[in-house]
Amino acid sequence: MKAVCWEGKQDVRVEEVPDPRIQNPRDAIVRITTSAICGSDLHLYNGFVPTMEKGDVLGHEFMGEVVEVGRGVSNLAVGDRVVVPFPIACGNCWSCHQKLFSLCENSNPNAVLAEQMWGHSPAGIFGYSHMLGGYAGGQAQYARVPYADVGPIKIGDGLTDEQVLFLSDIFPTGYMAAEACDIRPGDVVAVWGCGPVGQFCIKSAFMLGAERVIAIDRFPERLRMAREHGGAETIDYEELDVFDALMAMTGGRGPDACIDAVGMEAHAPGPVHAYDRVKQALMSETDRPIALREALIACRNGGTVSVPGVYGGFIDKIPFGSIVNKALTVRSGQTHVQRYLQPLLERIQRGEIDPSFVVTHRLPLDEAPRAYDMFVNKEDECVKVVLKPWQNGGATGARQPSTEGNQ
Ligand code: NAD
Ligand code: ZN
Ligand code: ZN
Repeated sequence: MKAVCWEGKQDVRVEEVPDPRIQNPRDAIVRITTSAICGSDLHLYNGFVPTMEKGDVLGHEFMGEVVEVGRGVSNLAVGDRVVVPFPIACGNCWSCHQKLFSLCENSNPNAVLAEQMWGHSPAGIFGYSHMLGGYAGGQAQYARVPYADVGPIKIGDGLTDEQVLFLSDIFPTGYMAAEACDIRPGDVVAVWGCGPVGQFCIKSAFMLGAERVIAIDRFPERLRMAREHGGAETIDYEELDVFDALMAMTGGRGPDACIDAVGMEAHAPGPVHAYDRVKQALMSETDRPIALREALIACRNGGTVSVPGVYGGFIDKIPFGSIVNKALTVRSGQTHVQRYLQPLLERIQRGEIDPSFVVTHRLPLDEAPRAYDMFVNKEDECVKVVLKPWQNGGATGARQPSTEGNQ
């Protein structure tokens, strides 16, 4: 089959790789109909996540049709249309029982590597380095889905792939980030980052009752999407001082909740950015927490700072005094996607949201290198790219069913 392979920093290629096979009774094989590139893939692309190896198959936002199930999977059948959540979760461990699916204690066989690198290990994640399990990802024609009896959600007819695909990651991610803000009527929520995750934070904050959302970025097309699709007010951080603007917009009190939907690769004009880039290059900090610092400093007394943006390791110059002396609540996490699949699918079915608004580019899988380049550089007003694995000729041969592991 064809798959998008990581070959080094800023080097991805579409290659022929072996078809996935059932390896365990709880596996399923999915023929992928639509896949996407996530902001989290950019951390791999830019070389910020250790233990990537040449040839690793990328991708953790995908959906498709079940073509084979292991004998331990009774809830899915060949032909079912499914969306697959990005964290792999066993359903049986303590964390899974608490619905903390992104912290599954069984799905990362290389947890010891993550513990050495980051001090802890989340669940295994599709296409996300060897320290998070070394699972082949879903920017490919097929994927092996472990614990297929727990993760994937079945989708009926009547909704397009693009309307449901983002249940795999960014819609639940934006929703969980907004839910963490414990929004009350009248609340003002500020969102740093108007990428795909930021867009779903904005939508979700309104769904959960925010009165106003203020969105911060520098790319005009992303700010426009936040205003026109999200209904947010916007701040271009290259034109205005973010702190001053937020204070002016909230009567000097600050937003009730602040969401950092930027994460470890934040950008800022001026010396702060240079400081973090140098520290990151010298490996004396792993991430650039520019948005996080601003969020902590701007949030009102007693407010909440919610952090869906990904941080891997160590960060510097965090105003912890703001957390203590303003009595802030800080919440974060990789998204417990499985928890949100059914309720958010129902919101889509009821017409409360159509997540396809975020898609700006549709390309065949073969053009993944161009898609990555465009998404990382925010070229051509790109907000979200979906990849179609079967356009432009498709596979080279018929897939053989598994013979091992499925007896
Ligand atoms: P993206 O790169 O498309 O968007 C990031 C946006 O942040 C860009 O538009 C950029 O211009 C903006 N930005 C950069 N510096 C900024 C600053 N100082 N102030 C305000 N805006 C700034 O990525 P995305 O797909 O939207 O993902 C955003 C983050 O969410 C990433 O860190 C990603 O890894 C993370 N993420 C987390 C989860 C989770 O489970 N917690 C899931 C998906 C994505
Ligand atoms: Zn993601
Ligand atoms: Zn588990």
